[in-house]
Amino acid sequence: MQISPQSEHPWLAGLNEAQSEAVRSLSGPVLVLSGAGTGKTRVLTSRLAELVATGTAKPWNILAVTFTNKAAREMKMRVSAMVGPMAEQVWLGTFHALAARMLRRHAELVGLRSDFTILDMDDQNRVLKQLMEADDIDSKRWPVRLLGGVIQRWKDRGLTPDKVGTAEAGDLANGRLRQLYEAYQARLLALNAVDFGDLLLHMLTVLQNHPDVLAEYHDRITHIMVDEYQDTNVAQYLWLRLLTGSERNLCCVGDDDQSIYGWRGAEVGNILKFESDFPGARIVRLEENYRSTGHILAAASGIIARNETRLGKTLYTGAGDGEKLRVNGYWDGADEARAVSAEIEGMQAAGDDLSQIAVLVRAGFQTREFEERFIAIGLPYRVVGTRFYERAEIRDAIAYMRLITQPADDLAFERIINVPKRGLGTASIQAIHVQARASDKPLLAAAIDLVGSDELRPAARNALGSFCQDIRRWREMSGSLPHTELARMVLDESGYTAMWQANRSPEAEGRLENLTELVNAMQDFDSLQGFLEHISLVMDGDAESEQGEVMLMTLHSAKGLEFDTVFLPGWEEGIFPSQRTIDENGAVGLEEERRLAYVGITRARKRISLSFAGSRRIHGQWQSSIPSRFVQELPPETVIEDIAQGLGGGIPFGRAAQAQLAGGGAFGDTPRSGYGPGWRRMAARQMGAQQGKADQDHFLPTGKNEGFVAGDRVFHQKFGMGNVIHVDGDKLEIAFDKAGHKKVVAGFVSKP
Ligand code: ATP
Ligand code: MG
Repeated sequence: MQISPQSEHPWLAGLNEAQSEAVRSLSGPVLVLSGAGTGKTRVLTSRLAELVATGTAKPWNILAVTFTNKAAREMKMRVSAMVGPMAEQVWLGTFHALAARMLRRHAELVGLRSDFTILDMDDQNRVLKQLMEADDIDSKRWPVRLLGGVIQRWKDRGLTPDKVGTAEAGDLANGRLRQLYEAYQARLLALNAVDFGDLLLHMLTVLQNHPDVLAEYHDRITHIMVDEYQDTNVAQYLWLRLLTGSERNLCCVGDDDQSIYGWRGAEVGNILKFESDFPGARIVRLEENYRSTGHILAAASGIIARNETRLGKTLYTGAGDGEKLRVNGYWDGADEARAVSAEIEGMQAAGDDLSQIAVLVRAGFQTREFEERFIAIGLPYRVVGTRFYERAEIRDAIAYMRLITQPADDLAFERIINVPKRGLGTASIQAIHVQARASDKPLLAAAIDLVGSDELRPAARNALGSFCQDIRRWREMSGSLPHTELARMVLDESGYTAMWQANRSPEAEGRLENLTELVNAMQDFDSLQGFLEHISLVMDGDAESEQGEVMLMTLHSAKGLEFDTVFLPGWEEGIFPSQRTIDENGAVGLEEERRLAYVGITRARKRISLSFAGSRRIHGQWQSSIPSRFVQELPPETVIEDIAQGLGGGIPFGRAAQAQLAGGGAFGDTPRSGYGPGWRRMAARQMGAQQGKADQDHFLPTGKNEGFVAGDRVFHQKFGMGNVIHVDGDKLEIAFDKAGHKKVVAGFVSKP
């Protein structure tokens, strides 16, 4: 299979025949359509080197759209080894980065200056909100983020305001969304600003309306290469088609099974119609997977085979079967995080490189539990994407807590004084600063002074007055109220939660989940001070580690990457597949989730440890969960059947469990309900072992108040026996025999 090992072009050494064909096909349209780990990205990096080495193209003649930094680095390195600093002249980067670079050269053609600003989401929404107010569009009825989201999707489809059909906008924003979009674009131009979608959209306009510019690019860019082509949206597709000259030297690589950005406008159809778009295209299929061992590949193939809308491919590996996948069930999320961390520690002790270990989760908020555990045991890690405590909503919430405990915390004051909006504009805030400087007091104290004066206009004075009063009241309550209750109350009463509830954008839900997760995290601390101290340590502990770091990220951001060992926690119905995706997109959504599972499994070279927990705190409530349907879809022969000595206290996913999963067992008639009781028994067995009790089935937190009334005698795992003295929904006030009065959630206690 291997050809030209002695080639003078080292990047050709070791390529298989099909790869080599793709690398050496330097002219005309080429599509490499093949499964994960078959060397698509490697083909692209080798092909770039080949283009330059053979003199087919100069570095500045090549445009390469990459997805991972690693691929971009590798390309640059290979080319600079050949041509030195000229390598810098390859048009190399993501779609957005490349479009931005072009747009700076032609900004004036769309009415911008070349030093335009790229706005972030907050800024975008602020602009849109102002326009809505000016146009009397009710932002309660039509949340800014919802409308902003629709506008972004139009941009993804290459639609400028004049191209949006009347039917498209429907009755959104009282039927005025198209006009709003137009006004929004005009406003951004006036601000000399663009949003993310504009980078491509404006470049489309430039290329479509200015044949001279297009001709200049056709002269200059003779070869185009694109990685992860299955995830391009329409605007990106149109941009590529425009830039592709009459020679049609376009080489795209991708995998329809890894299309995971449909929710953000990606069109898997782009890759499927490549052949009809570019008649005579050379289609290369790669079938040998060089990344993973046999069982991993078989597991991934087994799962993805369940999707109906796919081309279907064969994949094989010469690497041997390797280890089977380990599947563990855990008592709860904390238990899962503990076990995963313990396993990683073991690998670290055995000398494994931590940077070759990744923990991949479905949703951003799931990283929190792992981060905490890693910090607690001092395991170096890196979160790809934003760290939990660095997210805007978490910082806002913490700013409230900080100001309550520390009235002199000016940074916290500044952060939240007008979040949510209280009508305190720049003038009021300036006045507070002036007073603070004059009296040498912290901002909050200065604000209190101002409220007692006539410095501010009445509306601002009232708003500021009630804010200061709220802070004082919460501060007083912090003495008596449990800190988690206080946090919930502050987030509610300040209007902060409502602010996110009112906005229907995709991120809003994630932000609310994060806030709930924050309150969950507080439950593990005795006091607010304890928690805040912990947070500041977490925030300070961000220094780059010299040794390797465990990688922690979402499945989406792991695309294109590879690791020796991959942990896939949280494989539970509702989390993965995500309930929201299924609710919103039905079978199509489920197939996209399944592709994510395929992406996750195929990131691993040697080892996969997959897990689910029997219960989790979701939206602040304990919920018992059942294993993901994807667990059941794993071909049984790829999974370790019995790991009785499960690591870190994991529950063996043994023969009994397999039988449960396979047939629904004796406990239920549908496969899904079949997990339930059997699963509970497994969890209970583990609890029994831990606590020396025979049957603790009923200790499984359920998130429901199972009919507790005042006077009930109950048992709590941490606080022991006690009497219920007050019931408020699922919250119980209990006088414990030893632990005193506590407020607990009903799911945590049981009747003995
Ligand atoms: P994905 O679909 O996940 O993006 P991919 O198809 O882009 O995967 P690569 O990342 O290019 O695959 O390659 C997967 C791994 O296999 C890499 O470590 C790569 O170096 C290695 N590899 C690719 N081709 C060969 C080959 N011919 N011989 C040895 N190793 C190879
Ligand atoms: Mg790749």
